[in-house]
Amino acid sequence: MALIEIKNGKMKVPDKLDLAYMEGDGIGPDITRATLKVLDACVKRVYGGRRSITWVKLDAGEEAFAKEGNYMPDSTIEAIKHYHVALKGPLTTPVGKGIRSINVLMRQTFDMYANIRPVKFFPGLPSPLKNPENVDITVVRENTEDVYAGIEFAEGSAEARGLIKVMKEQFKILIKADAGIGIKVITESGTRRIMEKAITYALDHKKDRIVIMHKGNIMKFTEGAFMNWCYDVAKKRLGSKLITEQELTEKYDGKVPEGMMLVNDRIADNMLQQIITRPEDYSVIVAPNLNGDYVSDAIAAEVGGLGVAPGGNIGDEYAIFEAVHGSAPKYANKNIANPTSMILAGAMMFAHLGWKEAHDAIYEAVENAMRGGALTQDLARVLNVKALGTSEFADAVIKKL
Ligand code: NAP
Repeated sequence: MALIEIKNGKMKVPDKLDLAYMEGDGIGPDITRATLKVLDACVKRVYGGRRSITWVKLDAGEEAFAKEGNYMPDSTIEAIKHYHVALKGPLTTPVGKGIRSINVLMRQTFDMYANIRPVKFFPGLPSPLKNPENVDITVVRENTEDVYAGIEFAEGSAEARGLIKVMKEQFKILIKADAGIGIKVITESGTRRIMEKAITYALDHKKDRIVIMHKGNIMKFTEGAFMNWCYDVAKKRLGSKLITEQELTEKYDGKVPEGMMLVNDRIADNMLQQIITRPEDYSVIVAPNLNGDYVSDAIAAEVGGLGVAPGGNIGDEYAIFEAVHGSAPKYANKNIANPTSMILAGAMMFAHLGWKEAHDAIYEAVENAMRGGALTQDLARVLNVKALGTSEFADAVIKKL
């Protein structure tokens, strides 16, 4: 056994590493197979045997339910605690009924409070933008709070009726009797740590601007407070290296000087149009959970769609890397789905482990494969060119490693 160790907040990664993975539902098995093939080939080519991975398969989602009657068995939870880092295929969550999201459950169970989604354009991909090469934006999304915390009561339930009564009697607020109720929770501590993560990400990746996305004009004490706390963290952490939007225009002629960091904010609806009209102005977006979810899919659409956007759920002790997209059930087991998002999630995982050369090699190989015309149907159909299957696309990437 060669396991990751965490000591005093620092991660120690052995060269011969045991790593966990979950295939996921729908297209999950197809894209996971393709991804593991690319990751193994990459480690072999980059490290020539000095480093290697032994993959350990964990059950989750529909497969786990069929075997054990549980979508997220305790044995899988315990195993993730053991391995600390895992790669995960997409998991299905029914809409408006049935089980709560296993993705959300995992993010909360392992306190993976940051969802990091870097989106970058690869030349050759179809895009609805005139200058998609200007898109290089990372969303740092709070991952455990907001309306995603799962505090929801169905219309007519005892809990909903109780809350309606309390609101009326204690706060003189009338809520209609036929309301389903959800509660939005955004804490100061949760906001401070996500802003710290966003600043660390920006500094580590030599990014010179962070924008706080919020809807604080309407939701003053949740999203408005999110903005205020983020600014406070930025002031304390960056000190004299921080510049405001006003200083940017008045003192620096619109250009962030070397070694400085611009921190500004945008109201969510404006942010969603700005990423389309002037993506070059944005580099790191820090956002509460729901805004972060919306904006990252919208940015992914600018560079070819969900099939090319990776994500990492990262906490202080555990991290799970995954595609941004879902299980796209209509493409399940057809060798059609685009595995790029999960392959790049694997690259992010390598960077997290400190295997930066492997991360860079994967990005370069994916870029070169796409430049050479290797595309799956989601992208090929837009350009009217021949599509590769999931597995053949993985082979094309391996050839470029
Ligand atoms: P989705 O699975 O992301 O699929 C939406 C559409 O995006 C697909 O119909 C397809 O578009 C395109 N697409 C997504 N991934 C693709 C890929 N790898 N290759 C090619 N095309 C791809 O979203 P959804 O239909 O809203 O959700 C399905 C299930 O996934 C739901 O149960 C949802 O809860 C779950 N989900 C899970 C995660 C997660 O595990 N982290 C994230 C999001 C959603 P076209 O139809 O245009 O070809």
